[in-house]
Amino acid sequence: MIADNLQDVRRRIAAAAERVHRSPADVRLIAVSKTHPAATVLEAARAGQTDFGENRVQEALAKIDETRQGSGGQAPALEWHLIGHLQTNKAKKAAVSFAWIHSVDSADLVRKLDAGASDGGTAPRILIQVDLAHEATKSGADPADVPAIVEAALSASALQLTGLMIVPPIAENPEDARPWFRQLRALRDRLVASGVPAASLLELSMGMSHDFEVAIEEGATMVRVGSAIFGARDYAVNT
Ligand SMILES: *Cc1c(COP(=O)(O)O)cnc(C)c1O
Repeated sequence: MIADNLQDVRRRIAAAAERVHRSPADVRLIAVSKTHPAATVLEAARAGQTDFGENRVQEALAKIDETRQGSGGQAPALEWHLIGHLQTNKAKKAAVSFAWIHSVDSADLVRKLDAGASDGGTAPRILIQVDLAHEATKSGADPADVPAIVEAALSASALQLTGLMIVPPIAENPEDARPWFRQLRALRDRLVASGVPAASLLELSMGMSHDFEVAIEEGATMVRVGSAIFGARDYAVNT
């Protein structure tokens, strides 16, 4: 079932990319495995999926460990993405456990992650999460603060800045997310026009199960898809 869902999502990614004359290969599918066990991750890995997204450091660390051990000695080469809010007191753990961190939203967090990565000898790729809609309840940086965070990230020694991420306001209609995706790309373009190296802002992490096709039409290079691959989550287990 997961293999079928993955195939279906990949087919929809390709169709959305082709509609706007982009290469499907330029869109990375991140399978969001939060609340699902390591066995489910391994099932997706057997179906060819390599990138997995998690919201919580603690939950992810256990799962990363289990997938390494639970695969009969031959660990699959998985790339782990942290996509949920990161508290500074977990920065060190995150910096040594994730290949990608999408939820960087302050210069302070950049410095703590960089210190953790330097100590641990890792070089995670980071994205800055932006709160374009000024939703007080969501994580993400105010757009006005993004240039300072970019500057901190560019002067980091171990981290590599690679792009921007957004979680737009929840909406029934995927079309309602389109203006936010467009604004994130415009913000990236303005930063590049102001002198930020384009190579540091290549990635746009945007789009989830209900709106990833719209996000791809607006330039997403990474889509974070959970329920369309793994089915509904049981939020009694994990919020
Ligand atoms: C849970 C989550 C997703 C995946 O959501 P689905 O609607 O299940 O695809 C994507 N991004 C973030 C930040 C999430 O927390």
